[in-house]
Amino acid sequence: MDAKQYSLDDYWQVVSAKVCAKCIDGDGRENCRLSAGEECALKARFPKIVETVLSVKTDRMEPYIQELRKNVCRLCIDQSPDGTCILRSHLDCGLDRYFPLVVEAIEGMQDSAVNNSWRRIVICTRDYTTDVPLA
Ligand code: SF4
Ligand code: SF4
Repeated sequence: MDAKQYSLDDYWQVVSAKVCAKCIDGDGRENCRLSAGEECALKARFPKIVETVLSVKTDRMEPYIQELRKNVCRLCIDQSPDGTCILRSHLDCGLDRYFPLVVEAIEGMQDSAVNNSWRRIVICTRDYTTDVPLA
């Protein structure tokens, strides 16, 4: 069954509430406090991040991380040609630091959309059954 289609804005609101609100570089109210010259990859590459998370479906985090490296880190100016990243190794990349929370937020939206669809079907079925006259 198809999950509900969310907009990027919907995804950002949920991710920001889960991640930016807790981020050590945030102000605790979902606002980013990185200075003007700095840019968090979570914001800068958000569309690709959502696409990447939605392309994976597993209970393990490793496949999500592999796709993140392939689709996002590979294009990031902070990653070296050998695949290393100084920001990552110093825990200075908000995206990498909180990536499990990002995955949890996005997948959680999909799961609740599917559950709501099933709930609607059950309710519809119940209504239909109630409307059928008893023999
Ligand atoms: S550094 Fe990234 S994760 Fe942290 S508050 Fe800013 S945008 Fe959000
Ligand atoms: S971990 Fe490094 S390469 Fe990957 S998005 Fe963050 S800064 Fe860029």
